[in-house]
Amino acid sequence: MTDDSDIPIRVRPEIAALPAYKQGRQAGADAFKLSSNENPFDPLPGVLEAVQASATAVNRYPDASAGRLRQRLAERYGLDVDAVHIGAGSVSILAQLVQATSGPGDEVIYAWRSFEAYPWLAVVAGASAVQVPLTDDYRHDLDAMAAAITDRTRVVIVCSPNNPTGPIVTQDEFDAFAQKVPSNVLIVLDEAYSEFVTDPAAVDGTRILSARRHPNVVVLRTFSKAFGLAGLRVGYALGHARILDAARTTSIPLSVTAPAEVAALASLDAEEELLERVRAIAERRDRVASGLRDAGWDVPEAQGNFVWLPAHDETLAVAQAFDDAGLIVRPFAGDGIRISIGEEESVEKVLAIAAQAVRDLPSGHRGARAGVQS
Ligand code: PMP
Repeated sequence: MTDDSDIPIRVRPEIAALPAYKQGRQAGADAFKLSSNENPFDPLPGVLEAVQASATAVNRYPDASAGRLRQRLAERYGLDVDAVHIGAGSVSILAQLVQATSGPGDEVIYAWRSFEAYPWLAVVAGASAVQVPLTDDYRHDLDAMAAAITDRTRVVIVCSPNNPTGPIVTQDEFDAFAQKVPSNVLIVLDEAYSEFVTDPAAVDGTRILSARRHPNVVVLRTFSKAFGLAGLRVGYALGHARILDAARTTSIPLSVTAPAEVAALASLDAEEELLERVRAIAERRDRVASGLRDAGWDVPEAQGNFVWLPAHDETLAVAQAFDDAGLIVRPFAGDGIRISIGEEESVEKVLAIAAQAVRDLPSGHRGARAGVQS
């Protein structure tokens, strides 16, 4: 860090107070990187070839609206092209939606703990972040979120499955919630991990949109996780054209590159093969979650490509034990540890370290299942 205390540039105080974004640590050659919910499989050869072919024209700007991908997704979901918006990662679309709707004096509501970008996005827009605690089983408390809405609320973000804790919101819960939210409040349903969901009761944003039940709902999806394109930055929003137009107005033009668009199209061509990998990751996740529960951890429902260890006050010590064993995990001090589902070879190691760590917890620790801890 440079010492910039003598540079007389005025930084907005709320920006200066924000912690800088902290990326999941990079892993050394013999370590497993289980800290950023990435896809552990290498890119498909066909996808790489498409990217390489598109990279011959990097002296040209890309198509501003990523029109081919937009068209393709519109057809796929049975929506008008105007109901699809492409961004350089779904987080950039979330930023656009918050910018377009919320400013000083406005409120953005979301569950906590959830995706780390939510507070940051609200504050950058100049709005107030309103955090509604998760339930004791690490789920969204949608009744409390509905009750937190005021006449200053502009956006409510619902994350299903919830990053970093794992549980879904059910379709019934979401429908009941959406009924209670005033029609002038935007509901963003962040489904970054939807492809990994195996619980049939889970909310499915694309179904909500085709039924045109709630015009104030925008659904966010990404190619970063299930489709393995995190490094290329491409995600999309589905929703009402007026809302997406407003988001587009706030966007930094031409951020979605041609290689990113082409890779997303090639991935949709190879969807069956990619979804086969997603099924393997989901199966691995279920094995890891049940192994952790058997060892004594009180692991909540895990429906993304990650599991949650509620280590609470012991979080940093437990994360250090993983780190020492060459497993890079993501600690959230005071709350718990998110472990992404990585290579098959990492599974046994994760379970062994976690089993030792649960035995080392102080007796009566909240993260251990009653009666299992020694
Ligand atoms: N939403 C959630 C809940 C996430 O966890 C992430 C990635 N960590 C994103 C959105 C953003 O993904 P991307 O910008 O790569 O599409």
